[in-house]
Amino acid sequence: MMKKKKSIGLVAHDARKADIIEWVEFNGKRLSDHNLICTGTTGSLIEKVYMKKFPDINTNITKLKSGPLGGDQQIGALIAEGKLDVLIFFIDPMTTQPHDVDIKALTRLCSVYNIILACTRSTADFVISSPLFDEDYKAVKIDYDTYLSRRV
Ligand code: PGA
Repeated sequence: MMKKKKSIGLVAHDARKADIIEWVEFNGKRLSDHNLICTGTTGSLIEKVYMKKFPDINTNITKLKSGPLGGDQQIGALIAEGKLDVLIFFIDPMTTQPHDVDIKALTRLCSVYNIILACTRSTADFVISSPLFDEDYKAVKIDYDTYLSRRV
């Protein structure tokens, strides 16, 4: 069950950091009702947005390691443990990333656990404007029993 107050991951590659800052500036009030969990550098930039634009809003921001230093994998671990509901992940499609395998692993885990994943700004806009964004939501739980009880 996804609670009204959600855990939202926020990650942006360097070429997309300006985008995520703009997006958070625009959606800061709505986002502040939730727990925000960010990779290191993205998180520091988002903290600055809140200090500058929303100084009166108390926001719960967790900063993990920088993405290429393990931050993407930390977010993946939260997904595997059922501790993340939404991932806003602005990916740079034009630059080879040193942690390409981590990115692939992270987006894969979103599919494995049916996590809400927005890799483009338009999708992120649709996600945050959904009435479900601020409601309890019963996501379909994918059944892995057959897989787990397989004979090897
Ligand atoms: P960063 O990591 O926020 O620490 O820059 C983002 C990423 O995964 O590349």
